[in-house]
Amino acid sequence: MSKKIIVVGSGNAALCAGIAALEKGAEVTIIEKANEQEAGGNSKYTAGAMRFVYNSKEDLLPLLLNPNDEKISITEFGSYTKDKFQKDLLSFNDGAPLSLHQHILIDQSYDTLRWLGTHNIKFEPIYSRQTFKKDGKYVFWGGLTLEAKGEGVGLVEAELREFLRLGGKIVYNTEAKALVYKNDRIVGTDVINADGIEEFLSADSVVLGCGGFEANSEMRAKFMGEEWVKAKVRGTKHNTGAGIAMALEIGADFNGNPKGCHATPMDRNMPNYGNESIPYIERKHYRKICYFLGIMLNKEGKRFVDEGINFRNYTYAQFGRAILNQPSNVAWQIFDRQVDDLLYGEYKFWDASFFESDTIEGLIDQIDDIDKGQALKTIKTYNKAVDSSGSFDPTTLDGKRTSGLTPNKTNWANKLSQPPYKAYPVTCGITFTYGGLKVNKDAAVINVEGAVIKGLYACGEMVGGVFYNGYPGGSGLTSGSVFGRLAGFAAAE
Ligand SMILES: Cc1cc2nc3c(=O)[nH]c(=O)nc-3n(C[C@H](O)[C@H](O)[C@H](O)COP(=O)(O)OP(=O)(O)OC[C@H]3O[C@@H](n4cnc5c(N)ncnc54)[C@H](O)[C@@H]3O)c2cc1C
Repeated sequence: MSKKIIVVGSGNAALCAGIAALEKGAEVTIIEKANEQEAGGNSKYTAGAMRFVYNSKEDLLPLLLNPNDEKISITEFGSYTKDKFQKDLLSFNDGAPLSLHQHILIDQSYDTLRWLGTHNIKFEPIYSRQTFKKDGKYVFWGGLTLEAKGEGVGLVEAELREFLRLGGKIVYNTEAKALVYKNDRIVGTDVINADGIEEFLSADSVVLGCGGFEANSEMRAKFMGEEWVKAKVRGTKHNTGAGIAMALEIGADFNGNPKGCHATPMDRNMPNYGNESIPYIERKHYRKICYFLGIMLNKEGKRFVDEGINFRNYTYAQFGRAILNQPSNVAWQIFDRQVDDLLYGEYKFWDASFFESDTIEGLIDQIDDIDKGQALKTIKTYNKAVDSSGSFDPTTLDGKRTSGLTPNKTNWANKLSQPPYKAYPVTCGITFTYGGLKVNKDAAVINVEGAVIKGLYACGEMVGGVFYNGYPGGSGLTSGSVFGRLAGFAAAE
């Protein structure tokens, strides 16, 4: 008899779990708290970019929607080896070795993308944000090369199509409230159904794929500190940590860094949550992550990070926290004309907030809440400290730096010298939390005594121990797919 499985959530991780379980012959129902329009979680807000191990262009071809595209012959994809992925994750571990979960993510990343391909989920090169043109070729610079067709919306739609094609069932407006544990195992979940009525849904196994606690300001304050109440939420309002709380309630163990999170610089005037009044595809435009092309000043008119310490794939998820730690949790990103063409589309988006002037003085004068005298002094000192001998090259760590500043800017340091000048106000937007449930190699949830909670699995953002103090861009979706697939297979077997 086929196993009866309930999957909670309908983002990338949950859908991968659902597809995997259906592939193994299980009967699967997804329950989703949001309505159909708002379902799909943070996954729908993404660019659909996924980081995985590959050794050459040949490894990428089977994953591509259009492997015969002529542009591919003039593209340098480089490689992203297992060793490089390990080093990238280790660099955020504060000296701790790679966790079991990080090993699983790395080792299963490529196979999982190939598996998605067998389920009609194909990818395209990310020319717009991950390449710069050099000598007539497109050069990838950050180990992140492919995104799902149609970005996050396209990814979730393709996965949902596959889930339904394989016979899966999905119910919206249905919120999981409590896990039901009897005779030493999970037997189902209590929900509030679409009619607002409490109901028990029985199952042989439950897979939790219902996100972290980023949209719950009380849990943010409790786990991460009071200051995190002030962060904007970049994505869905529905990820309030319910899955983590329900599992902790029945004895699951918490794992990972409770204070850790992915948080990026965002337009200071964005709404408090991902804006649901504009189409999904436009929502990510509040992100402002081109600081590496200019400088950032806080309210005191001072720089506070090395804006060029590394490629932005390795800094953007940490710099939201750096901004949150500044007075009033705000900063200004300053650019000149030399880099204007390189600024991502979101800087030119119709409702992007910015000031512009033909002089630095005129620019700073428009900013109300900055120490104007100090800001002018910082820019002057910065300009003087720039080494003019090197050449600016955004495709490499070009070493074009400042000297004698605290902090220095160690790559891509151009003088702010060519008008017009622009200033963009930014604040911190939280993307997702890193602390969560402890799972084993099959994505089965572990209790505080170290034993498996029979019939309970978890995947996606809510798995703790995958990311600690930082994050290489594009790893969240991969992690969701890797642990989702494992959870689905194990739950069905
Ligand atoms: C703006 C933005 C851009 C991003 N860009 C990228 C990117 O390009 N690449 C990348 O790798 N990562 C990116 N991320 C991170 C990525 O979104 C997450 O790592 C990943 O999508 C999480 O997937 P998930 O399936 O775990 O959770 P989600 O996709 O958030 O899904 C969780 C689902 O659970 C539902 N739910 C919550 N509580 C309940 C409940 N009690 N009962 C029933 N359902 C419930 C929610 O409504 C939601 O549908 C981005 C995130 C944001 C916000």
